[in-house]
Amino acid sequence: MLLKIAAVLPMALLGRFPWWRLSASLAYPRILMYHMIAHQIPGSKLNKWRIPPQQFAKHMHYLTMHGWQAMTMSELMSSDTVPEKAVVITFDDGFACVYDYAMPVLRDLGLKSTHYLLSHAQDNAWDAHKEVKRESLLSEKQIDTMLASGLVEVGVHGQHHRALVDMGYTEIVDELIISKETIEQRHGIQCLSLAYPYGAWHGAVVMAAKECGFDHAVAVKNRLYQPKHDHRFAIPRLTMDGRRSSVLDFSLRLAKG
Ligand SMILES: [Zn+2]
Repeated sequence: MLLKIAAVLPMALLGRFPWWRLSASLAYPRILMYHMIAHQIPGSKLNKWRIPPQQFAKHMHYLTMHGWQAMTMSELMSSDTVPEKAVVITFDDGFACVYDYAMPVLRDLGLKSTHYLLSHAQDNAWDAHKEVKRESLLSEKQIDTMLASGLVEVGVHGQHHRALVDMGYTEIVDELIISKETIEQRHGIQCLSLAYPYGAWHGAVVMAAKECGFDHAVAVKNRLYQPKHDHRFAIPRLTMDGRRSSVLDFSLRLAKG
């Protein structure tokens, strides 16, 4: 029986997803984690983090056509009742290509999104050991323009993308307070949402995040967020992988988590 099913499914799909699993409840919000919206670079070690612009546009049109409701992370975390088919579109690191390729689509479709920014970085220097080419991050002006759309929440991702789990408690607090206050003052906003660099956290990181005034924090985990069970400082998200970004991949991820 399994062989028969295997024969009719595209082989490429078989190894990728637990396609035999039933779709997950629509009551669980889908929290999507994007990084760059950019063309793949042959041989690059960072292609996992590059969703081609045309694929990103297809993802967003899919959400709209199938009745998914985009909320910001803080809207999700402050709502008493989460609607069915809630989706949170998040972007980590604040890459400049998001302004060029994601924002026009999000604006056209009226989709809200949450962007986790670094307060003290101009490019992805933290990836320098993987790739010589540096990717620029959003300018202050671009961030202001995004905020003016009324569709964008800005959250915090640290100063330079250092792993919080490698620091002592005081250092974690300093890292978080400085990045939070810098971004808040720079753009005249309040940042309540935190994304841990590398998705890495432990008890002291959570304690520091609370002390610094964050309301919640997102991690990675690659599973669906279950509001009644998950800790609000360890919210799982679904990685959007640039090497598996077809609409079929996307729709399966959305359905099954
Ligand atoms: Zn990051």
